[in-house]
Amino acid sequence: MIVLGNPHELVSITERKDEARHRRPLFRFDKDGMYETDDAKILKRLKSQFHIFDNIELANESKKVKRHCSKCDFTCTNQGDMLTHHRKAHPKKT
Ligand SMILES: [Zn+2]
Repeated sequence: MIVLGNPHELVSITERKDEARHRRPLFRFDKDGMYETDDAKILKRLKSQFHIFDNIELANESKKVKRHCSKCDFTCTNQGDMLTHHRKAHPKKT
């Protein structure tokens, strides 16, 4: 399975151990924002956070899909770009 994320992004997981929470690095996405794994445990943890594809062809196809911002006319083909755009253009009110 291919996990699609942001290029070079380091993914960490939080583990509970002895009443304490430990954060440990799990893997880093490659330059294309992809990480390949068939570990069911890892995939289960990641599926709420990232898009997961059966193979690299499907992952590549999805990267070409144009994404439209729901709040303005901004478009891009990369989820990371869209997240950056949202942070800058539509910051959440606190
Ligand atoms: Zn926007």
